[in-house]
Amino acid sequence: MYDLMVIGAGPGGYEAAAYAARHFGKSVVLFEKDELGGTCLNVGCIPTKTFLRSAKALEDCEDAGRYGIEVAGGAKLDMAKVQARKQQVVSQLVKGVGGLLKAAKVEVVKAATKIVAPGKVEAGGKVYEGANILVATGSVPACPPIPGLKDNPKVLDSTGILALDKAPAALVIIGGGVIGLEFASFFATAGAKVTIVEMMPKIAPVVDDEIGQKLQAELKKAGIVINLNCKVVKVEGSTLHYTDPEGKPCTVTGDYVLNATGRRAVTAGLGLEELKVDMNRKGIVTDDFGRTSVPGIWACGDVTGRVLLAHVATREGIVAVNNMFGVADRMSYKAIPSVVYTHPEVAQVGATEQELKAKGIAYRKLVQPMAVAGRFTVDYAGKSGTVKVLVGEKYGEVLGVHTIGGCGGEFICAASAFVGQEFTQATVLRTIFPHPTISEAVKDTVIHA
Ligand code: FAD
Repeated sequence: MYDLMVIGAGPGGYEAAAYAARHFGKSVVLFEKDELGGTCLNVGCIPTKTFLRSAKALEDCEDAGRYGIEVAGGAKLDMAKVQARKQQVVSQLVKGVGGLLKAAKVEVVKAATKIVAPGKVEAGGKVYEGANILVATGSVPACPPIPGLKDNPKVLDSTGILALDKAPAALVIIGGGVIGLEFASFFATAGAKVTIVEMMPKIAPVVDDEIGQKLQAELKKAGIVINLNCKVVKVEGSTLHYTDPEGKPCTVTGDYVLNATGRRAVTAGLGLEELKVDMNRKGIVTDDFGRTSVPGIWACGDVTGRVLLAHVATREGIVAVNNMFGVADRMSYKAIPSVVYTHPEVAQVGATEQELKAKGIAYRKLVQPMAVAGRFTVDYAGKSGTVKVLVGEKYGEVLGVHTIGGCGGEFICAASAFVGQEFTQATVLRTIFPHPTISEAVKDTVIHA
């Protein structure tokens, strides 16, 4: 009899399993049908960032002259080598997760799992029993019912495209969300002609509108064609048929079509319907304590469909474990940082301007170029960046921080603390930022804008 049985070893499941074992000394078994690390480590966050790091290396070579460096003969990206490095990084990190779980004394069972009764799961022909079950089965790429999208060898999803060892000369991407944009940024740098076809009137819908417009302009400058308000009708081979904003039929052809239309929660075949676990169209319904509608069954991460980010999955898993073992804890979605790792990078936390407007919250907008921090000029020759801080009209509390350019993703966690802990402008000013770093642009924006 285990204290906790975790299904799925992504950042939600494996972190929760290790935390329960280490912090509470509980007996934990973790089931995984595939590789440890889940989507994030194997076909998500990490492999995409290795691709983007290679693109950055190429950009740095192309830009080297600005820093007084001559690169003889020009630089070029070797996709097979980029692919090999990605594999090496992924295997190294997967091994690291194995080591972490071993050190925490978590039992790992490599098998697909099904809940057969409350407190009982079946894996590899054996039934395991435990006091608590944490479902952390994640998500997979969605395939909307567009004719010609399914079972088409020329259509790849985010997992398929990560396996390419030859960069396409032309790539068509359905969807201008974060995943589509990161691949667009990488393949455009790799030399591909990239076209994005997006149904909505803007890309990156979760991003602050003003920052999103700047991102769109930068991506266009990088040669990416962005077709907004366009509806995909069908796919034939590697040709996408869509209608433009006036309803006129258009086509675009690439070597491949990337389906980046979203993800769906993995709930099928887990025994959830039989146990009457509440689900909605996004996934398993949970409360802010990680509980599902069935006592003893908890859920975290992408499978809940709430916020599809690795660090959210991890935090939700920790919240669930705390509550199951008697420590009061509650998930808050108020200060979740998110980063779009395109070049340039977008980082944000808290409310966007459009959200504040929609809620009728009175705010002040403080905006500065990132170059107010001297380090930006040192590190990003010829580049531009922006910091935008939104504060409450009356008390000056930080409601949202939005950046484009530089390495905003590396310092947005400080802004998460500001938003989460309701820092006012006065408290931000008492915070000491290291000099010279680009993070100082946040402080300077709060002081001078
Ligand atoms: P997952 O990581 O999906 O893990 C679920 C695990 O459960 C899988 O390993 C699966 O095999 C296993 N499983 C499923 N069913 C069973 C079963 N029946 N029995 C046993 N095991 C089972 N997020 C970020 O925060 N930053 C990023 O930069 C980022 N980039 C991304 C890029 C891409 C291309 C993609 C696709 C996603 C990206 N994400 C990113 C999202 C991130 O990967 C997910 O939010 C995160 O992996 C969710 O973690 P999870 O633990 O909920 O599920």
